[in-house]
Amino acid sequence: MSMQTDVLIVGGAAIGSAAAFFLATQPNFKGKILVLEQDFSYEKSATALSAASIRHQFSTPENIRLSQFGSSFLQNIANYLAVDDEVPAVSFKDRGYLFLATPNGISTLKSNHSVQKSENVDVTLLTPSQLSFRYAWLNVDDLAAGSIGNRGEGWLDANGLMQGFRKKAISLGVQYKQARVEKLKRAGRKIISAELTDGTSIAFDKVINASGIGASALAQTAGIRLPVEARKRTIFFFTSSAQLENCPMVIDPSGAYFRPEGEGFICGIAPSSQDDVECDDFVIQHHLFEEVLWPILAARVPGFEALRLKRSWAGHYDMNTLDQNVILGAHPDVDNLLFANGFSGHGLQHSPAIGRALSELVTFGEFRTLDLAALGWSRIVNNRPYLEANII
Ligand SMILES: Cc1cc2nc3c(=O)[nH]c(=O)nc-3n(C[C@H](O)[C@H](O)[C@H](O)COP(=O)(O)OP(=O)(O)OC[C@H]3O[C@@H](n4cnc5c(N)ncnc54)[C@H](O)[C@@H]3O)c2cc1C
Repeated sequence: MSMQTDVLIVGGAAIGSAAAFFLATQPNFKGKILVLEQDFSYEKSATALSAASIRHQFSTPENIRLSQFGSSFLQNIANYLAVDDEVPAVSFKDRGYLFLATPNGISTLKSNHSVQKSENVDVTLLTPSQLSFRYAWLNVDDLAAGSIGNRGEGWLDANGLMQGFRKKAISLGVQYKQARVEKLKRAGRKIISAELTDGTSIAFDKVINASGIGASALAQTAGIRLPVEARKRTIFFFTSSAQLENCPMVIDPSGAYFRPEGEGFICGIAPSSQDDVECDDFVIQHHLFEEVLWPILAARVPGFEALRLKRSWAGHYDMNTLDQNVILGAHPDVDNLLFANGFSGHGLQHSPAIGRALSELVTFGEFRTLDLAALGWSRIVNNRPYLEANII
């Protein structure tokens, strides 16, 4: 069987559905949009398994601007995603990120702070005594400073956002089909069709690779090496009788994080670099909680010495191994294949801005709102990393 569309989007989670929504609302785009998603349960997607948090405290202007649009999108979600007056439940909690620094980390914190200030991020540096005053539950003995985001940072319901994009896109005429793309067929500078596992061939004008950790394998079928690998991250949910008044998302100097979630808290930490290898299983890294996280949590918040681990789950970052930032747009050798991969743990919060950017690339062949050229393929093919210092 063969099919035809104008724009094909491979992967229908946060990024694919955001792209579908923004493209469907582009006044200058008139074509048909088809989203292919291999699993409508989304249970293994990074979107569904994420910590679902948003921050403006990045070290590069592009990441800051992507998140700033993300927050404004969440705050105005009814204007974007309501369908028949029904507004998606994204439950955005505007509670801030608190980055903590020891004397070793103070210069990085301060240099990030000046980039953030120059991008109008509402962020405040706090001394240890100011930290103690605001957060009486926090141990500040080893700290030199903290940085708190005052507005626009927090957490949300990732599935609610993704389903909101999807539902609105469908209401605007976007077609979703459950199917797996096996291969992109290339002729010179063009991808001419997508071949599905059931033998169907789909022709199109443009194709977007929004397939998360599936992106490298898909790119490879078109002869393109995408430096993105699946790296496992485990999230642990626990309860504690400790009362943490006014608790934001806390980023410990060790790299561990925790934040309130429902009746308890979630937390996580990246595995050590020698354990952080490419892997696509979902086996939970229990040792991380017992051996690494709990001691860090109990040292930072004495009330966490007594806690009860309730559940945990593992998902995968689509890790850009060159510089941990998204690779956005067309590869220099192929004109009609757009990439949005390698988010390395910050793709959910960037999905509104990336979806909008992709819709501009499809419609105009260039960025029209945020200039995201620095996140394109050029740095990848020239091996010039554009590093983000604040990776969690
Ligand atoms: C544990 C964890 C915590 C995270 N925390 C945060 C956070 O706090 N804040 C934040 O902003 N981000 C966070 N992230 C990252 C964020 O979840 C991802 O960057 C984002 O969800 C990526 O969305 P995506 O649509 O690109 O990928 P995914 O959500 O993985 O979706 C890709 C989709 O493509 C489909 N697919 C793959 N291959 C094919 C194919 N060949 N054919 C058809 N369909 C295909 C898959 O089934 C999948 O549904 C976290 C990620 C993890 C794993």
